[in-house]
Amino acid sequence: MASPDSATSAGLEPPLAMLAELTHRCPLQCPYCSNPTSLANRDDELDTAQWVDVMRQAAAIGVLQAHLSGGEPTARKDFADIVAGAHAAGIYTNLITSGVLLTRERLEAYRSAGLDHVQISIQDSDPENADRIGNYAGGHARKLTAARAVREAGLPLTINAVVHRQNLDHLPEIIALAHELDAQRLEIANVQYYGWALRNRAALMPTREQVERATEVAAAAAEALAGELAIDYVVPDYHARRPKRCMDGWGNRFFAVTPRGRVLPCHAAETITGMEFSSVLHRPLRWIWENDPAFNRFRGTDWMPEPCRSCEFKNRDLGGCRCQAFALTGDVGATDPVCEFSPHHGLVADTAASGVPVATPDYVYRA
Ligand code: SF4
Ligand code: SF4
Repeated sequence: MASPDSATSAGLEPPLAMLAELTHRCPLQCPYCSNPTSLANRDDELDTAQWVDVMRQAAAIGVLQAHLSGGEPTARKDFADIVAGAHAAGIYTNLITSGVLLTRERLEAYRSAGLDHVQISIQDSDPENADRIGNYAGGHARKLTAARAVREAGLPLTINAVVHRQNLDHLPEIIALAHELDAQRLEIANVQYYGWALRNRAALMPTREQVERATEVAAAAAEALAGELAIDYVVPDYHARRPKRCMDGWGNRFFAVTPRGRVLPCHAAETITGMEFSSVLHRPLRWIWENDPAFNRFRGTDWMPEPCRSCEFKNRDLGGCRCQAFALTGDVGATDPVCEFSPHHGLVADTAASGVPVATPDYVYRA
């Protein structure tokens, strides 16, 4: 294991977590997928040795957890080797998967390689609607089989449910399903509207009534199931008045590595056109964390425009989400329009109030 030298020479805190996007390949086609609209091909992906080296470098600058994601990370034949590399570096590994390729045999190989935790996404509690959302026939049934295999293998399980207009009314059944699957945690993630999801916003945006009901359901379930199932639920941005402390601050505790090796302060940062990001193919990870202009650009509060600059909440939310600011205003340095003090707040408030069409359009699936 590399010895962590967490006090970086730039005086920064060490990153705690890394999202390793091992591939963009995925058998599903979710209309809210946060992968960029232009995907990396198999030939562009870092190879096994390069990913194992990324794990070593990450451990050396203080990373404690690697979230192994995609696309579908188990579409890679060398997934167990990458897990073994991270495990040897002393990093806690979390597989983030759709579950549709996760057979018992594969799971056993991953567990033997040192895998610590599995997170499976579900599209709905209703099998037919779930398969329609992911555009993958039989996917829901495969996910349930995989989730049961995870628990039988003795691994901790998180269920991740991305919620939106076309499944939010099933939240009580989604919670019951996660409980029945013996998950330790349920993450209820509201769709974030950048990248592919922005294209499907009219099909996905929930009504205010749906959000209010879901918020009550999640709060009541969290109380009733305390000690059995931890439930994470955050009010969706378009129905909030203040932004979230996105990524716990840009370049603060987290980075993502794309299938091609580019290092991002946020997994969606490639949706910000015009920003350059360094690659592990050309620079050491430590240099990127400490010196990359893209990481430094929105660190702290000095970059902020008004109204953030003189706002009493600026250290709490750090100005919100850069990807959302760019998606809605075209200016990556703007105050997040979710904030009621932003001059662009009308873009969010008007969409939330009147942006839900009477007839729900069909999904535009990724080709
Ligand atoms: S959101 Fe859906 S399509 Fe995108 S990587 Fe995850 S499972 Fe695949
Ligand atoms: S003005 Fe800026 S700092 Fe103040 S609450 Fe809004 S986003 Fe946060």
